[in-house]
Amino acid sequence: MKVMVAGAGIGGLCLAHGLLQAGVDVRVYERENAAHSRYQGFRIGLNEHGLAALHECLPQRLHGVLAAVTGPMAGERRVLDRQLHEIRRLGAVDGGTATDRHVLRQLMLTGLSGRVEFGKAVTGYTERASGTVEARFGDGTSATGDLLVGADGVGSAVRRQLLPEAEVVTLPGNAVLGRTPLTERFAALVPGFGTTVHGPGIIMLLGRMEFRRPPRLAAAELAPDVQLPDADDYLRWVVMLPEPHSREPDGWPAVRDQLLALLDGWHPDLLDLVRQADVVNSSPLTVRYAKPVPHWGGTRRVTLLGDAIHPMPPSGGQGANTALRDAALLSRSLAAVQRDEAELPAAVAQYELRMLDYGFTAVTESLQHLPDFTPHAPDER
Ligand SMILES: Cc1cc2nc3c(=O)[nH]c(=O)nc-3n(C[C@H](O)[C@H](O)[C@H](O)COP(=O)(O)OP(=O)(O)OC[C@H]3O[C@@H](n4cnc5c(N)ncnc54)[C@H](O)[C@@H]3O)c2cc1C
Repeated sequence: MKVMVAGAGIGGLCLAHGLLQAGVDVRVYERENAAHSRYQGFRIGLNEHGLAALHECLPQRLHGVLAAVTGPMAGERRVLDRQLHEIRRLGAVDGGTATDRHVLRQLMLTGLSGRVEFGKAVTGYTERASGTVEARFGDGTSATGDLLVGADGVGSAVRRQLLPEAEVVTLPGNAVLGRTPLTERFAALVPGFGTTVHGPGIIMLLGRMEFRRPPRLAAAELAPDVQLPDADDYLRWVVMLPEPHSREPDGWPAVRDQLLALLDGWHPDLLDLVRQADVVNSSPLTVRYAKPVPHWGGTRRVTLLGDAIHPMPPSGGQGANTALRDAALLSRSLAAVQRDEAELPAAVAQYELRMLDYGFTAVTESLQHLPDFTPHAPDER
């Protein structure tokens, strides 16, 4: 059986490992030209389900490196005003395991050499009467397999063809995502799990990414064939604004300057946090979610996972965890097909029914958390 995966993101790479372990011939087609094309190093909190799914799919020998390059995500949640005076404490939590998306992706590319092709944007597919599916790429080439899995994220080309009526909603309002190297001064802003700063009409969320071990060194020591980037600890911050920017400024310096103007009067530590943000890892953030879709029925050679089918706001911390859960579940279903214990269409349909159920439950829960992160208009405070 040959499975083609569109997208080498969190879910697609996890699936590729799960399928390889099951002896399935898997190929991943990624739109970006290289693994480092876009440095997307934001922090992702893995809960016990996401981590269990990742452990299930990743080969055992990578588990030690994974543990070494993750970080803690526990402690008190503080709410401060814009001058850093404490307003209240929300109690301590154990929020799971902090991972860096870029480091995690690099780790997951290990062992997939020759199976991931970059510069291959899937543009569409054709299901053949013979029971195969042909995927078409932007460079004019194509590939054929027994199943195409759209793991191509929120703008999924595979979903657009499979479910043209599926609705993805872009939330109004505006968010800016930043990443600033962790110094003692900035570390003091987040002594625990996370800090929320409330200003007039603006909310700023702060969280730390502290690697247990520097990723490149940890890999060199624990698994020399694993190539991990140099990555230093950082403070991840998100600023939620009530109104969209009047215009989308061009490039980070313009976004940063516009944001600094809006944060006029905020504590110097917070302003310096914004000023010192990493240019390549800071940007405006668009928040999108999908409306539920019923199971499409029939027996298809095409399916979806992760943000390609159930994108959700980051407010619930569930998007990547759910994509990993999808990958583990689909790997298990396809492993049964590989062992001749199940038929492919039935195994895929069973996966889809379960995935749609918990996936859209996660979307609903994430939307329920959204008001906690939505700033009030200035005159409401
Ligand atoms: C700021 C922020 C914080 C977050 N925090 C958390 C968190 O704490 N916990 C959590 O669980 N989730 C979190 N998320 C959500 C999480 O990042 C996503 O849900 C997760 O990355 C989805 O994984 P995916 O594999 O489905 O899609 P992606 O990771 O988006 O991967 C999709 C891949 O497909 C590629 N692609 C796109 N189009 C094509 C095409 N046509 N052909 C081929 N390839 C294509 C893309 O280049 C990309 O590599 C956060 C998101 C953001 C933005």
